[in-house]
Amino acid sequence: MLDRAFPVPDQDVIRDAITEGVIQRLLHEEDPRFRNFQICNACGSCTPYCPARINDPGANGDPGYLARKVTAALQAGRRPELNLSDCVQCYSCETACPRSVSIGGIINAVYETEHLQPIFRKMLLDRGGLPPQAFLPVYVSRGRFRKFVAKAVRYPYPVDSRAIDEVRRLLLHPLKASVFSPPGHPAPKRPLTRPDQVFHLNSCCAFNYPGADLSQKKILTALGVRYKTSSSQTCCGGAPHYMGGAGFADRLLLTARNLSVIQDTVDPGGDVPVTGICPTCSDSYTAALELLSGSANRTVVNEALGRIGREVSDPGTFSVANVLDLYPLYLDELRRLVETRLSGLRVGVHVSCHYRKMNGTLAIPPGLQNLAAVTGARVTRSVMEQYCCGGVKNLFDRHQRGRPLELSRLNRLVHQDFMQHRLDMMIVDCPGCELVYDHMGVPVLHITELLALAMGADPRETVYIQGHMTSLSPALRRIGLL
Ligand code: SF4
Ligand code: SF4
Repeated sequence: MLDRAFPVPDQDVIRDAITEGVIQRLLHEEDPRFRNFQICNACGSCTPYCPARINDPGANGDPGYLARKVTAALQAGRRPELNLSDCVQCYSCETACPRSVSIGGIINAVYETEHLQPIFRKMLLDRGGLPPQAFLPVYVSRGRFRKFVAKAVRYPYPVDSRAIDEVRRLLLHPLKASVFSPPGHPAPKRPLTRPDQVFHLNSCCAFNYPGADLSQKKILTALGVRYKTSSSQTCCGGAPHYMGGAGFADRLLLTARNLSVIQDTVDPGGDVPVTGICPTCSDSYTAALELLSGSANRTVVNEALGRIGREVSDPGTFSVANVLDLYPLYLDELRRLVETRLSGLRVGVHVSCHYRKMNGTLAIPPGLQNLAAVTGARVTRSVMEQYCCGGVKNLFDRHQRGRPLELSRLNRLVHQDFMQHRLDMMIVDCPGCELVYDHMGVPVLHITELLALAMGADPRETVYIQGHMTSLSPALRRIGLL
């Protein structure tokens, strides 16, 4: 008998060894998210926009913070030193980088390997997306259980069983990200023209703000734009992907399958603009169309889709018609459709990081402020427009860590900015940002909801303001809408 106990294995050493192996494998496999990291020259352009840096007081004043933590570590064959959970997957770093290095993408690849979240993946397999119960903890933590139940009963998640079966068959044969090659250059963006018809996506996050979805339909109808929807359309995979529940290839396959559904749904002939209230969906479709523009990638995707009897025959017919690109084509009509000018309403605007990611620019596009101004609301600009709202991923991480009400440093800065400007509410283009503001106690509306209110929509029936966690009633009462 041995009279000495075996030495206890050092868990940190084991974890580091596994991670080193992961890094070596990802480098060896040429995951498309790892492209270009060797050419990072630590210029620091990405650092100022990074919420992980903002949340780490020790990083202040270090312009090379992100590069040192991530790309330099990889160049030395080591795991990124950044706490991966600190990255909110906003991709501001990618948008800021003059060399098209995607630090967010690198972290996503490592995170996917280390932390693929079984709970979000199970939701995809069982329900074809994030069903209402994915959001339940967010409501419970704010004592808003009744609001959750009312919405879950009134607006159940509409995905049909055949679609769920197809998603299951697709995802149960996972593909490696490394089978896809980077598009090399972005697919040429066609200028968006006024469409005759659009396909309107149902986004998972719309559960929280059914008013944004109903408002979008009201606006399209008022503008004379025919729209189609389909209960065979599932989640694009975007939100689960950024939260660690769907891999790179999973997201691509889910979006590609939806493109096939859309192809079958819209009237044949002509272009197919894909719209919806969520920039993360827009970003998923933009990324998928870019990848599918390469014939090798298209072959891999269509082989996988072939197993479920689907195909994307011509990705070139689709365009992404995010609301911030679509509605500015109709500014004069929208102005004429305004029944009640929202004069006296003081609003701030917040453009989502994923909208800016999909456009590859950090500049604040004029779309959101112009649309808000159409309603007569007074728009106050702020330096915080440059920053992430704090991120849905951070919100879910806090819930998982059992500290749902503990705001991140960025959340506090964003909240402080709102108070200092004495605003009535924030206007956003993203249901995820809307959830973050709403959860931190800031009154907020999606731009579609603001437009619909100005166009005479019923605040309770169409905009469903009673579903918000933070009350909008005081501000709407003050301007006579309630
Ligand atoms: S990732 Fe890009 S922006 Fe950031 S330090 Fe490297 S080269 Fe500069
Ligand atoms: S994705 Fe966002 S949080 Fe993550 S490293 Fe890039 S800027 Fe920072």
